[in-house]
Amino acid sequence: MRAIDATRLYFDRAADRIDLSENMRQLLLTAKREISVQIAVELDNGEIATFIGYRVQHDDARGPMKGGLRYHPEVDLGEVRSLAALMTWKTAVVDIPFGGAKGGIAVDPAKLSPREMERITRKFIDGIHDVIGPDVDIPAPDMGTNAEVMAWIMNQYQKYHGFNPGVVTGKPVELHGIPGREEATGRGVGHLAFKLMSRLGRKAQQTRVALQGFGNVGSHAAKFLSEAEFKVVAVSDVSGGYYRPEGLDIPKMLQYAREHQSSLQGYTEAERISNEQLLELDVELLVPAALGGVITAQNAPRVKAPVIIEAANQPVWPDADHIFDQQGTVVLPDILANAGGVTVSYFEWVQNRQHYQWGLNRVRQELDRVLSDSFERVWTVASERKVSLRTAAYILGIGRVGRATILGGIT
Ligand code: NAD
Repeated sequence: MRAIDATRLYFDRAADRIDLSENMRQLLLTAKREISVQIAVELDNGEIATFIGYRVQHDDARGPMKGGLRYHPEVDLGEVRSLAALMTWKTAVVDIPFGGAKGGIAVDPAKLSPREMERITRKFIDGIHDVIGPDVDIPAPDMGTNAEVMAWIMNQYQKYHGFNPGVVTGKPVELHGIPGREEATGRGVGHLAFKLMSRLGRKAQQTRVALQGFGNVGSHAAKFLSEAEFKVVAVSDVSGGYYRPEGLDIPKMLQYAREHQSSLQGYTEAERISNEQLLELDVELLVPAALGGVITAQNAPRVKAPVIIEAANQPVWPDADHIFDQQGTVVLPDILANAGGVTVSYFEWVQNRQHYQWGLNRVRQELDRVLSDSFERVWTVASERKVSLRTAAYILGIGRVGRATILGGIT
């Protein structure tokens, strides 16, 4: 199944529940604009390399479009399309005044020097600067991109349009960024894990957690979960899994990753397992925080965790989701679970427009409030309509975007 078909399936499931007309479905599903640009750059060795950069602007009924920029070898237009639509529903679920977009370049950042990354990023912005902007479409970090990349985007954009830091979020704090943006998605996962497990009558101390991915989202989620006294027994990254049934020393692993270019490769104070084994561990909470499509109908029957929090985008494929629905596994969907990042991105955009620096405490307090309110709304819809948390989140998101579309008028 393609990523876009997965998004469509979840959309349709919720749309059926609210009797959405076929015309309205077509309108809400069709992207407003799709761009693909050639990125030709000179590599450090003097050779010419050509990449393709994508930006899909899905929907702007509720405000300027918002979404990350992914640098990964498997990026293609279909994946970007699907992730752009997810952003539309995500911004609506947490009720921030943005639409949805996404971008990406099919490139392996691990094989590029920092200067090559910079050249590729600036060339990409040369190709799309006239269709992005603080009131139009605002990129942010995603897999393979970080605050430094966002700083290049801001700088390249202002060569064409003048000073306007609100064109991009996730910038370094020293350069119009907001404190707490980097930790936001992981912190949100930790906060929502606490709320969800409390609702399900489980104590943090009695909850063993397996977490896939130790990048921006995974490492911060591990930090907040362990600070909240969850027992994190397994984590992984591209180098494989690390398992310790008595609980891992997360502060030590964070320190290790900091000292080894964000990698856990070579960490010895845990049993080595594979990424596949990690997903099937005997734990109470599973948090996939790396790639999409890692849980399918093939491995879903072997997943033992009764609760899954989708920290990554689309880690659970619909055929697996169906199995979880039937066996009563609770899945907190990506469009709520990882919305902490876009929420703090919104605060950063507000800060840039106000030219007033927010403090970390304010960011954290407001983030926790937005996520708590959104969780309660989704939980209520799920209970009232007797649907999964995913379908409830989609019902909320589609309803809000649909109403904004009608209120704004089509003509
Ligand atoms: P990242 O690039 O910082 O980290 C990715 C992590 O996944 C790394 O630890 C990497 O080693 C690991 N990984 C890569 N390939 C793997 C494999 N085959 N098996 C296991 N692990 C592998 O990316 P990130 O920003 O942490 O994003 C992770 C996920 O969260 C993505 O799906 C992204 O779309 C989603 N997300 C990110 C944010 C954000 O604010 N960064 C917000 C919302 C959603």
